Amino acid sequence: MNYEPKDMTILVVDDTPENISILGDFLIDYNIKVATSGQKALKLAESSNLDLILLDIMMPEMDGYEVCRKLKHNPNTKDIPVIFLSALTEVKDKVTGFHLGAVDYITKPFQIEEVKSRIETHLSLSTYRKRLENINEELERMVNERTQQLFVEKNKAEEASKLKSHFLALMSHELRTPMVGILGFSEVIYEASNTDLIKDYAENLNKSATRLNETLSSILNFSALQAGKQTADLHPVNLGDYVAKIIQKHVKYAKIKGLTVNTSSIEKINTLTDYTMLGMIVNNVMNNAIKYTIEGSITVDIYSELRQNNLFDCISIKDTGIGIDKSQHQKIFEDFRQADEGFNRSFEGVGLGLSIVKQYVELLNGFIELESEPGKGSNFKLFFPHISNISFEEEELGTEKQLKIPEKKYKILIVEDNQLTIELEKLYLKEFGEIIDVDGGYAAIEQAKKIRFDAVIIDVSIGQGISGLDVIKEIKKINGYENTPIIAFTAYAMDGDKEFILNGGATHYLP
Ligand code: ADP
Repeated sequence: MNYEPKDMTILVVDDTPENISILGDFLIDYNIKVATSGQKALKLAESSNLDLILLDIMMPEMDGYEVCRKLKHNPNTKDIPVIFLSALTEVKDKVTGFHLGAVDYITKPFQIEEVKSRIETHLSLSTYRKRLENINEELERMVNERTQQLFVEKNKAEEASKLKSHFLALMSHELRTPMVGILGFSEVIYEASNTDLIKDYAENLNKSATRLNETLSSILNFSALQAGKQTADLHPVNLGDYVAKIIQKHVKYAKIKGLTVNTSSIEKINTLTDYTMLGMIVNNVMNNAIKYTIEGSITVDIYSELRQNNLFDCISIKDTGIGIDKSQHQKIFEDFRQADEGFNRSFEGVGLGLSIVKQYVELLNGFIELESEPGKGSNFKLFFPHISNISFEEEELGTEKQLKIPEKKYKILIVEDNQLTIELEKLYLKEFGEIIDVDGGYAAIEQAKKIRFDAVIIDVSIGQGISGLDVIKEIKKINGYENTPIIAFTAYAMDGDKEFILNGGATHYLP
């Protein structure tokens, strides 16, 4: 028995007092209520908390069937188990009883022991059912509560993700803008100075700023990767020429350290890749190769190789540096991890470079292999799926294009709210002709209406008022500006910004 009889209330419905008395005596352990008519039974069922009804069929005014029908129609009483007690023994009487929703049917004269054990069975069943219902209700409540919580959390996560993206875009803009000033002016000072000492200072300033800029780019790229905001933007490229061009920039720094850079067997391979990602990948691995090599050389090879029946293009960057212990080979590709950690580490860095490299290589559907031994050097092999039959007009890659100073004098409009950037742009462009800057977007539109400029260089974010993109749209509407180059010079340099700005009407994008 899964219940206490004293906690159970049974209603006995019978118009014969003797029957009631017999049952009452026998069910003494239970809480018994009595009704001598159908009407009374319905009233009691509605007002008391009943666990079972023993219902006689043959009663005057309202018979047991009618009582049962009414009980089962009432939402408050429909779940109370009903056992018919009747002298009617025909099968059809029993079937009618069951059809009406009774749980059992006992014929009179009854064996009191039989009645008792059937009562026990049905009370047990109904107790289990109630418990199940309670558990169900509790579960439903918990599920609803959790669904509600998840809904709130989902909204919070979406909000946080939006804030994060906004924060990234803002940081990218706010941190990159002053970097333009520092990097640009250090170059200007270098060029303008006749003194070796000042040139040295300017170079040192530029080196520090470059390092800061690289760290900043790593953090911004890392955050953008974390936010899932990076996708590969594939374009055809001659891999060998493109990598050779990147490597070229490192040769100078390698030389300063007394290292040689060999680019012996660079094959001509045309492929599809994301220039920016591939640039970041090769720059990072090259930087490390130079950084972690004290003497010797760095050798860059590009070739195609079969791996499990698939052809891959491989960029191998091999150094004769300090090498990496096998136990660290996995760790160094994790976020913020370095082979040598702690306050007495021998090399600077934030430990993000290789983590970004790995993620970019994977976004380009490639993989990395590392061969390295302490004291013997390292070979980082970057594999990318080989793509055949790519033809395109080859750009002249691998050589820096020399800037030609034009003979004609141009009129160029600068729309920019950062004074340092304006000055820098004017310095860079002074040979080109007349450079005019304006304060704000509306002034830019007015100026463009007055003077027919040959080009417009515009910051996308120009402070209060009209946005840079709206200014571009307005200028393009002015007669004579249909084919004028409008160059967006912007610190918005996250993934997707370029497309957004070019779709907004700029003809060129200069991050
Ligand atoms: P960082 O160079 O900023 O510390 P990276 O993620 O680029 O971060 O590299 C992680 C670690 O991998 C480095 O700290 C260094 O211990 C190790 N490492 C990377 N490249 C080389 C290399 N060419 N030779 C030796 N160790 C390297």
